[in-house]
Amino acid sequence: MKKMIFLLVFLTSLCIFSQDKFAKYNATVESVKNDISLKIVHVKNEIFLIEGLGAGMGNIGVLRTQDGIIMIDNSFEIIEEMITSTVKEISPKPIKFIINTHYHYDHADGNRTYGKKKIPIIAHHNVRNRQKNIAEAYGGIYPVLDNFYVPKHEKNELPTITFKDHLSLYEDNEEVSIFYFGNGHTDGDAIIKFNQSNVVHTGDSFVLYGLPFIDISNGGSIKGFIKNLEKIASICDNETIIIPGHGSLSNKEKVNELSEGLKEYYSKTIEGYNKGLSINEISNSIEIKLGETSGFGDPITVKNNFVRSILLENNIIID
Ligand SMILES: [Zn+2]
Repeated sequence: MKKMIFLLVFLTSLCIFSQDKFAKYNATVESVKNDISLKIVHVKNEIFLIEGLGAGMGNIGVLRTQDGIIMIDNSFEIIEEMITSTVKEISPKPIKFIINTHYHYDHADGNRTYGKKKIPIIAHHNVRNRQKNIAEAYGGIYPVLDNFYVPKHEKNELPTITFKDHLSLYEDNEEVSIFYFGNGHTDGDAIIKFNQSNVVHTGDSFVLYGLPFIDISNGGSIKGFIKNLEKIASICDNETIIIPGHGSLSNKEKVNELSEGLKEYYSKTIEGYNKGLSINEISNSIEIKLGETSGFGDPITVKNNFVRSILLENNIIID
């Protein structure tokens, strides 16, 4: 009996712990359900963008082919029906493949339902590895992401086709190239180029909301992120239409702007540290503006955190 009571107490505390553990995830998902509306944007030829308005959902790319849909990212599981019916407005044909740009839940949480529906999901092999386990994002840049845990995916909710460096799909007249450029936003970022249409979906390897979130706890690297922006620019020309991970359609010039801005952050941070400056002093020495970040907290705190994160990836910790 004693043993049983102990077991009960143990199980209850485990239950309370796990409920608390996913509190931020559950709250965000719940708010998405209430706040979101979806908009279809025609990008070029047979390529479309499904943009989520009102919540921080990742941009979904859609390629319409004669026998079905190729979908890039699938966003939140909770709005799967809404996404599927929006995709059907583009084409009533079935979804042939889903490509994950990376493992984050605002881009690939839909794997939970689409996986169960047996739709093949293509991703870098590290995405499958990350989704097998409970994920904890790096909270060092945006305090709102502190203690943000995402539940693991079951076996039938994981990518079913994985790649290491490069994979191509041949669909009607379109060659779809999927690239992995190395650790950047995470350790499993896919960049997708529709070669004939000259359209690129970057996932969160390029974003338009300001200082980017880089998941250092999960193989992300600020230095790698900058390098990957250069690699994205190298597969684009001035006519390329870019679908960023978040935000409206963009172009190569904006990719170069972000990479130049981040390079300034990086060099000024290391330079300032070598001069013996404090975090605040380093932060003040960086003049470049990378847009609004206040949605993720006070902009000065975010700026300081970004500087601190650059130092952290160089194994330097200062106050
Ligand atoms: Zn992300």
